[in-house]
Amino acid sequence: MSRLVMKFGGTSVADIDRIRNVARHVKREIDAGHEVAVVVSAMAGTTNQLVKWCTEAAPLHDTREYDVVVASGEQVTAGLLAITLQGMGVAARSWQGWQIPVLTSDVHGSARIVEIDGTKLINRFRDHSEVAVICGFQGIHEETGRITTLGRGGSDTSAVAIAAAIGADRCDIYTDVDGVYTTDPRVVSRARRLDRIAFEEMLELASLGAKVLQVRSVELGMVHNVRIFVRSSFDKPEDIDPHGVPPGTLICNEEEIVEQQVVTGIAFSKDEAQISIRRVEDKPGVAAAIFGPLAEAGINVDMIVQNVSGDGATTDLTFTVPAADYVRAGDVLATSRAKIGYERLDGATDVAKVSVIGIGMRSHAGVAAGAFRALADRGINIRAITTSEIKFSLLIDAAYTELAVRTLHSLYGLDKS
Ligand code: ADP
Ligand code: ASP
Ligand code: MG
Repeated sequence: MSRLVMKFGGTSVADIDRIRNVARHVKREIDAGHEVAVVVSAMAGTTNQLVKWCTEAAPLHDTREYDVVVASGEQVTAGLLAITLQGMGVAARSWQGWQIPVLTSDVHGSARIVEIDGTKLINRFRDHSEVAVICGFQGIHEETGRITTLGRGGSDTSAVAIAAAIGADRCDIYTDVDGVYTTDPRVVSRARRLDRIAFEEMLELASLGAKVLQVRSVELGMVHNVRIFVRSSFDKPEDIDPHGVPPGTLICNEEEIVEQQVVTGIAFSKDEAQISIRRVEDKPGVAAAIFGPLAEAGINVDMIVQNVSGDGATTDLTFTVPAADYVRAGDVLATSRAKIGYERLDGATDVAKVSVIGIGMRSHAGVAAGAFRALADRGINIRAITTSEIKFSLLIDAAYTELAVRTLHSLYGLDKS
């Protein structure tokens, strides 16, 4: 007998038929003799609608109330799945984040899980032989007792955290694709499914735009050594061989990957904005004067490019921020203008960041150079570059995103044959 966490995303629970399909997947594991905790997302589109209503009610709203609203989607699907399972003769009970409880920080809208005590769930497996159907995405702040949410895509994180708390043998992430691909299979039809990917690479892919797993879930998996398996919820439960290995991708330690490629995958994000500060004074303390106030405003700065000053007096400084923070970042810089000392601010939101990821880059030189040539050959201009040990990222015009991703995908031999 194993103990499993099965997580189902929004598309997988989008209507009653799909919830019934999910229930059959759960029953399949119960019939195989496993203890199961299920984590569900809200129905596809629900969270977007709830977010939209909050913004319509007031563009700048209290994030504690935002959490009250957006956490509600998961309550519906958890209840419906429990009802469906019970209807199939499978003992099941739903649990909201506060009932577990999933204790989090008080950063409403993107809270971090602080602690989950899995004892109650484990005892109930023993005493009631019942499936726990848990609302993903939700938590509670211990001191205030207020409901929190874990940021968009946060059900993945709920699932991995629950898996760690109950010592699950595996955390299966059921979604609308049958695994992690070399890049988004909806954009590049020649993307290949990976049988395995290392935690470090998945962390980069997720944080650089591949939304198949929330970044924090990969971090938790890495720290607590949870085996995460990404697979499709659309496979027919009755077609799955209980003794075979289904199609999917295992997120695992680097050592478990036999054949390591130089490049494993390509991620992209259009949720970026570029800000250039022109003719900023080239003197000690300027970077602190620029990035200090942005950090205080909670704005995440990513790619930073600063020219060496030509005249020894002024220089240009370019960096990226999340598109959602673009206007606020401009405001913050305008307010600090006297302190920083610059001529003008330029900006662009029609930019995209394309990133190439692979642990093999640690031991191979010149990987990025090939990309610069290939993009130049297609007339794609690179606005900024950043590199780290296992990835490099390029900022380009958003209009060329798909072309750039496809070009690099072929260049690094990732296309399926
Ligand atoms: P869920 O609702 O199940 O949580 P998401 O929409 O959050 O599903 O994530 C799955 C989606 O992630 C896929 O439909 C796919 O378009 C996208 N995606 C982006 N990059 C990748 C990738 N490298 N591999 C697989 N899917 C990816
Ligand atoms: N329902 C939430 C969202 O859409 C959480 C999740 O699906 O993981 O972001
Ligand atoms: Mg998701």
